[in-house]
Amino acid sequence: MFDAGEMLEEIRRWVEIETPTSAPAQIDHLMEIVESEFRALGARTRRIPGRDGYAGHLEVEAPWGGAEEPGILILSHLDTVHPLGTLDGGLAFRIEGDRAYGPGIYDMKGGAYLGFAAFRALVLHERRTPLPLRWIFTGDEEVGSPTSRDLIRAAGRRAKYVLVTEPARDGGKCVTARKGVARFVMRLRGRPSHSGARHWEGRSAVRELAHQILALEAFTDYARDITVNVGVVSGGTAVNVVPEEAEALIDLRVPRVADAERLVPRFLERVPVDPDVTITVEGGLDRPPYEKTEATAALFAHARELAREIGFVLEDAPSGGGSDGNFLADRLPVLDGLGVDGAGAHTREEHLLISSLVPRATLLMRLFETLR
Ligand SMILES: [Zn+2]
Repeated sequence: MFDAGEMLEEIRRWVEIETPTSAPAQIDHLMEIVESEFRALGARTRRIPGRDGYAGHLEVEAPWGGAEEPGILILSHLDTVHPLGTLDGGLAFRIEGDRAYGPGIYDMKGGAYLGFAAFRALVLHERRTPLPLRWIFTGDEEVGSPTSRDLIRAAGRRAKYVLVTEPARDGGKCVTARKGVARFVMRLRGRPSHSGARHWEGRSAVRELAHQILALEAFTDYARDITVNVGVVSGGTAVNVVPEEAEALIDLRVPRVADAERLVPRFLERVPVDPDVTITVEGGLDRPPYEKTEATAALFAHARELAREIGFVLEDAPSGGGSDGNFLADRLPVLDGLGVDGAGAHTREEHLLISSLVPRATLLMRLFETLR
């Protein structure tokens, strides 16, 4: 049903259109190609125009199945983290043994393509699926899906299962849990003064920030898989001025919803050590935790059985990074990491394993055919 050489040639076409999130016209161009390939197979499509400097998104529906009937929702993103020029700057499409290199080939154009290839195989062999098949291809996942998250949540209302074509990891494992991600901006305001003449009058925002950083990073708890990273700080205006202002960007990751509910308020409501410095914090939970619920575990067990029939062992693993699956995992069974196997996401070593193309396209096709 699948030919790895033909698949690789087609993936190459998708990869050689560079699509960093910051280049919406490039992404829209690829969306157009993907849309026309689906339409040629009879699929219904709808384009959602871009906004706020981001590319548009694409919804696709298989030609069979009722419009309101709960179906299988496949989430794929077509944007990558690689800037324009990466193809010419050291990561050209190339094949070395079982590896095919290219920007975004692993995260996740290879996986996005597998969903298309599985659908095409069904159409060409005149097979149908018991449930409707619906896709969302997005163009802003790599920056946290600011313009697609509502679309994803809305599509979830007509979904029974969610399949995410993010890359497989650690030797072909799929993903059944992802940490939730919370982001915060902390701003501090103290009182400026001359550091030589009137040091005692100053109230240093930078000094207070130092206290806050240590207090917040102390919430890191590897045993519970909770991490805090104060990733960017700024403050002060000159070496001889007690700093009036300081700012920090903070990343909190939690595996469980209960951890998020407990910790997020503690980040939002900060009490300063120096009562003369004021602290304001904005932000909150960006992508909620994706926990391995019973429904997700059952979906994984089904996929593992299908993989066994196809001839490979499918294992699962949690992931520290978020994906668009996080937006629906509180309500629906979500199976992620169904894309290609490979390594080097977001680096100049990004590649897929050619030997993973056929088995994983077959797995997707079998999931489409057997979920009911
Ligand atoms: Zn991705």
